[in-house]
Amino acid sequence: MKPVEIILAESLGFCIGVRRAVEKAEEQAARAKKVFSLGPLIHNPQEVSRLAGRGVTVVDGLDEVPDGTVIVRAHGAPPEVYRAAASRGIEVVDATCPFVFSLQRKAMALADAGYQVIIVGDPAHPEVAGVVGWTGGRALVVTGEEDVERLPLTGRVGVVAQTTQRKDNVEAVVARLKAKGQEVVVEQTICRATAERQEAARRLAAHVDVMVVVGGTTSSNTQKLATICRDAGARTYHVESASDLDPNWFCQAKRVGVTAGASTPDWVVKEVIRRMEELVQAEGVAETQAQQTGEPGAGGEQAGGTPGPQNGQEERPHIEMRSFRPGQLVQGTVVHVDSDQILVDVGYKSEGIVTRAEMSLRPGQEPADVFAEQCDPALEQRVG
Ligand code: SF4
Repeated sequence: MKPVEIILAESLGFCIGVRRAVEKAEEQAARAKKVFSLGPLIHNPQEVSRLAGRGVTVVDGLDEVPDGTVIVRAHGAPPEVYRAAASRGIEVVDATCPFVFSLQRKAMALADAGYQVIIVGDPAHPEVAGVVGWTGGRALVVTGEEDVERLPLTGRVGVVAQTTQRKDNVEAVVARLKAKGQEVVVEQTICRATAERQEAARRLAAHVDVMVVVGGTTSSNTQKLATICRDAGARTYHVESASDLDPNWFCQAKRVGVTAGASTPDWVVKEVIRRMEELVQAEGVAETQAQQTGEPGAGGEQAGGTPGPQNGQEERPHIEMRSFRPGQLVQGTVVHVDSDQILVDVGYKSEGIVTRAEMSLRPGQEPADVFAEQCDPALEQRVG
């Protein structure tokens, strides 16, 4: 009997912003007596529950914090939160993702320069609410091009996007604004982690019968991955954990793809894969590249060879595992620069931080004098 293949997306799971927030929370839990996170640290109930076991308590607002340390999560927070904490002597550990921080600064700069800031995103999402706060409450939020008509626009417009937005949605909003004759400046704020996971999911979904998307049901980036997989033609299921898997999903399937949102920890992905292996073995023989997700040094085998079900001529996705050892020289792409650090994308599931102390800067030199972010030219357009 032909094996049922379980194929992993080239890029999936924890992004650098989420990994950093979890690490900061764990550090604080080990150090401080009372540690609170303003809202769930990430959109993954299993990971939030694990952190709660280590002493990180989720609160809805500062009024629930008697004293101690508060962690601002990767989504960021509006300036009022920092002011209120300072006035009450509450320590703030800022785990705002560097990409979200950059979005906040770009929105604030546009607002200060007199642009009407338009945020393409979900108005109910805390990241968006935080960005609105950094514009002094002046930014307008649109979910898509259909919202543009109702905007009260008169002057210059500056567009930023929630970091997890789909590029095509932002492009549609920009096109509609230009069609209305607006003078438009667009800042690139979509995070590469999101774009990479979306592109990898799209490629894989076009070559499998079933896609399993792993992540919290409230995770915006995981929901978008599921939509992309459906749009690519795969029968798609969004699960939070292994217990959500249904054996009937894999009947008749020859290839099953797996991807995971940026807030999904590796251990949850591994549990899902282990359960899927059991379920597909009930159907036939499982041939899985599951080891390629997690343990460094394992796997690395290419999933090549057999034609895909929807296009017999195309090659199947190449799946690569990269692991690194201390002292190894690697090439990467600078994806974010700020005054204290740069973020470098060094390949599959791997992004690194180079701190200012690790750079050979001359006196008076800033990281931005030496490093430049590689931007997406399709979105980095400046008009008028
Ligand atoms: Fe940061 Fe991107 Fe992760 Fe959001 S998805 S936390 S913006 S790295």
